[in-house]
Amino acid sequence: MKRLFAVYGFSGFGREVCPVLQSQLEGQPRDSAPCEVVYIDDAATDGQMLNGLEVHTFNSFLNKPADERQVVVAIADAAIRQKLTHRCEQAGVPQFSVRAENVVELDNVEIGEGSILCPFVTLTSDIKIGKSFHANIYSYVAHDCVIGDYVTFAPRVNCNGNVHIGDCAYIGTGAVFKQGTPRRPLVVGKGAVVAAGAVVTKNVPAGATVFGNPAVPLTRANLEARRDRG
Ligand code: UDP
Repeated sequence: MKRLFAVYGFSGFGREVCPVLQSQLEGQPRDSAPCEVVYIDDAATDGQMLNGLEVHTFNSFLNKPADERQVVVAIADAAIRQKLTHRCEQAGVPQFSVRAENVVELDNVEIGEGSILCPFVTLTSDIKIGKSFHANIYSYVAHDCVIGDYVTFAPRVNCNGNVHIGDCAYIGTGAVFKQGTPRRPLVVGKGAVVAAGAVVTKNVPAGATVFGNPAVPLTRANLEARRDRG
């Protein structure tokens, strides 16, 4: 019995996720079936190796002998992640989740398959998160947050309590969300983009890009106004 685990994407994020996965697997009971970790990337070349691991195209991964195979898609772009997750589903390959050993999770956290929780991530209490969530290093999600599918947190995102984030939203490094309330959560719409360092104090419409402190929509007028402000 051999289990094959693949990290889809060998660029920046994939190479950060692989070692976390390797330690996760090392922590499994001694009598577990032997595991192998490989990369999948559509840009793979024949016989390619990366950091001591085989690199496969999706088809060569499917053809590699194994009794069980699973994938996690470690690519920050939500649209690509969705497309590749769908490719795996169609081929009958399930997603697995990666979680660093030092992730802190408090009470009643629900999280979908295919998620990646990097080192130093904290999820507090009463949180619901969809599938394929990426929380990069040092990010946190506080109480009563609701996060959709394919949401990406870059490093050190500060998501305070009662914030709702729609599917496929991208949250840049160090962004801060003001806490909402149970009756009026702070809402970030589907596919929204929050720039690095933004301080989000108001709802963000679906598909919008916001930046700055306090965060405003990314328009030429707002950019010029912020530049004048120094
Ligand atoms: N990629 C892929 N199939 C796709 C789209 C992208 O295998 O349909 C790979 C691409 O070759 C690259 C990686 O995904 O190696 C994405 O890398 P990028 O640096 O853009 O993303 P990040 O690692 O920052 O999430």
